[in-house]
Amino acid sequence: MPIRPITSLKLAGKRVLVRCDFNVPIHDGRITDPTRIEATLETIRYILKEGGSAVMCSHLGRPKERTPEFSLKPVAERLSAELGIKVPLAPDCIGDVTGRMVSALKPGEALLLENLRFHAEEEANDRDFAHELARGKDAYVNDAFGAAHRAHASTAGVAQFFAERAAGFLMMREIEALRSVVDNPLRPAVAILGGAKVSDKIGVLRHLLPRLDTFLIGGAMAYTFLKARGTPVGRSRVEQDKLGLASELLDAAAKQGVDFLLPIDHVVAEAPDKPETASVVSEIPAEMMGLDIGPRTVEEFIARLARAKTVVWNGPLGYFENEAFAKGTLRVGEALAGLSGVKSIIGGGDTAAAVAHQSWSRGFTHISTGGGATLEYLEGRELPGVKALDC
Ligand code: AMP
Repeated sequence: MPIRPITSLKLAGKRVLVRCDFNVPIHDGRITDPTRIEATLETIRYILKEGGSAVMCSHLGRPKERTPEFSLKPVAERLSAELGIKVPLAPDCIGDVTGRMVSALKPGEALLLENLRFHAEEEANDRDFAHELARGKDAYVNDAFGAAHRAHASTAGVAQFFAERAAGFLMMREIEALRSVVDNPLRPAVAILGGAKVSDKIGVLRHLLPRLDTFLIGGAMAYTFLKARGTPVGRSRVEQDKLGLASELLDAAAKQGVDFLLPIDHVVAEAPDKPETASVVSEIPAEMMGLDIGPRTVEEFIARLARAKTVVWNGPLGYFENEAFAKGTLRVGEALAGLSGVKSIIGGGDTAAAVAHQSWSRGFTHISTGGGATLEYLEGRELPGVKALDC
């Protein structure tokens, strides 16, 4: 189903409710990573340039009650600086005071509504709350890819109250990037999968196995596969209850003629917080745990990537939070970013956290702003926030 893009809307004179993903990390009132704000500026600037006014809304964190640490105030300040106009923060996302601020907006002006999650009705996708949120606005644009896998009032329920609804530029870019992996990718097509658990990636593996050519497996999830194959993994993190499933997936990969590469060497240590005990091994000793892929695995993975035309990456290849175990993730990342002629799509969440701040990360085709949403898309699931935009 094609998604209607923001460029198909006539925005002049319209008050546009824009669902943004401003769920950014804030410490002591300071935004420590503004990536998600920057990623949606194109959409906001476009609305203002076309003569519309932007009524932005977002959630921030998981507030249990209305406290200042969950206020979007720092985001309003950042938006004012980025857009070069005053972006006031409404005291709430609904209600009379906010309603008057919305009606007072003139073309080219912008307003940020306070944290949607100050109302439990947001996550409950409450119809009346969604109706209130829609009141006084003429069009709806969803640019919050990072929240598109949630059927909440601002991402799903609200859309039904607008004849004029569309995806913003960020949402379009995200969906197009993922579509280019899942539907008819340029071949060879490779998935790099890592992270903590096989159980989190089962859906992705099932959906992508018949679609892609090669799977490069790292991270803790690799040890469940290795153990299922009978390889010693020492004290590495293994999901005992997923060993049968891991065997099934290995069999399915073999039957489908898919290349399914597991690590052939490892950086091991006594524990994640004991980097001083780290060494590189081909076989994991009984008292050690695997915490990163080893250098021979890195070389093998890079060789596969060099031949690829499409690459999608979800999950770090080691315990990257400790730099002693981040090399595999960073070396593979740098090599991939440096390749020309390959479309490289990097999942959000931990994968983006592991590589996005490196200078070479500009070499990737696309780094997603959504962790959960990317995973669900790669599992072949329909994203409620995208479905709600269907006309
Ligand atoms: P996920 O959210 O599933 O992508 O998992 C990411 C987490 O997995 C990160 O916190 C990584 O540090 C962790 N991780 C990756 N590889 C390993 C490993 N070999 N042992 C323990 N944790 C790991």
